[in-house]
Amino acid sequence: MAKLLLGKEVNASINEEIKAKVEKLKAQDITPTLGIIRIGEREDDIAYEKSAAKRCETLGVAYEKFLLPADVKEEEVLKTISQVNKNDKIHGVLLFRPLPKHLNEDRIVNALAVEKDVDGITDLSMAGVFMGKDMGYAPCTPSACMKVLEHYGIDCTGKKVVVIGRSQVVGKPAAMMLLKKNATVTVCHTRTVDMPSVVKEADIVVVAAGKAGVIDGSYLREGQIVIDVGINVNEEGKLCGDVNFEEAEKIVDAITPVPRGVGGVTTSILLEHVVDAAIAQNR
Ligand code: NAD
Repeated sequence: MAKLLLGKEVNASINEEIKAKVEKLKAQDITPTLGIIRIGEREDDIAYEKSAAKRCETLGVAYEKFLLPADVKEEEVLKTISQVNKNDKIHGVLLFRPLPKHLNEDRIVNALAVEKDVDGITDLSMAGVFMGKDMGYAPCTPSACMKVLEHYGIDCTGKKVVVIGRSQVVGKPAAMMLLKKNATVTVCHTRTVDMPSVVKEADIVVVAAGKAGVIDGSYLREGQIVIDVGINVNEEGKLCGDVNFEEAEKIVDAITPVPRGVGGVTTSILLEHVVDAAIAQNR
């Protein structure tokens, strides 16, 4: 049976670091604060907002919500972002996306000050990831994948890593971050031919396809490490990953389960970024 790579074990060590940094900031009268901008009432946004708020409370990070109606005018959103940019009590911003269709997401996202872009959504943050430069913050989900690997002492140097998915939020930045760690990276997507044989070649497989159970046992082999980024709801209404867990755990060496894997680490990374942003902005 595969070893389980558990988010809570990774979080325990990140949380210790966050708490120590928060204590230092509070001794200087600084409370690291996350600004949460939510447009509309999407259920998944609200669920993530609640879990982020709970985690903030546990770690001594404050948060302030900016709630806008789903039919909000673009100028109103840009005004909110400009206010948050200027507010030196807010160190980082979480803006829920996708935005309602009538809004220009590109314009809105890139109005955010890069030093407050703790979720890594602006073009400048992304450029930082691709150029290996310290600009803004790397997106939280691929950062969480890297943190899981690091926590469990899995060295990427020289390893063959296959990333499944090429989205802007997960797949592409994950590939760049793995490359930075000296992995030999292959990115698979919907047009990849003979994906099972490509995936079988990998030492580490990072799956971010957004389709429940799409990677089953026929893609996998003994000795592999599988990081399942997917968060889906199956036919029975239960949370599940992009990997068929029952099949995979019998084959591979180690795997992140869903839930209890990468998901919770993503929130920890977000808060780590907020605290780091508070430190950077008060230097
Ligand atoms: P997306 O839909 O934007 O991108 C999916 C990518 O996978 C695309 O590039 C597509 O080409 C590829 N793909 C889809 N089906 C495929 C298939 N059958 N074979 C090969 N490639 C395929 O999704 P995303 O935003 O990148 O998210 C991916 C998954 O990660 C989703 O399940 C999402 O819920 C989850 N997610 C998790 C977290 C977290 O914190 N753990 C955060 C963000 C997203």
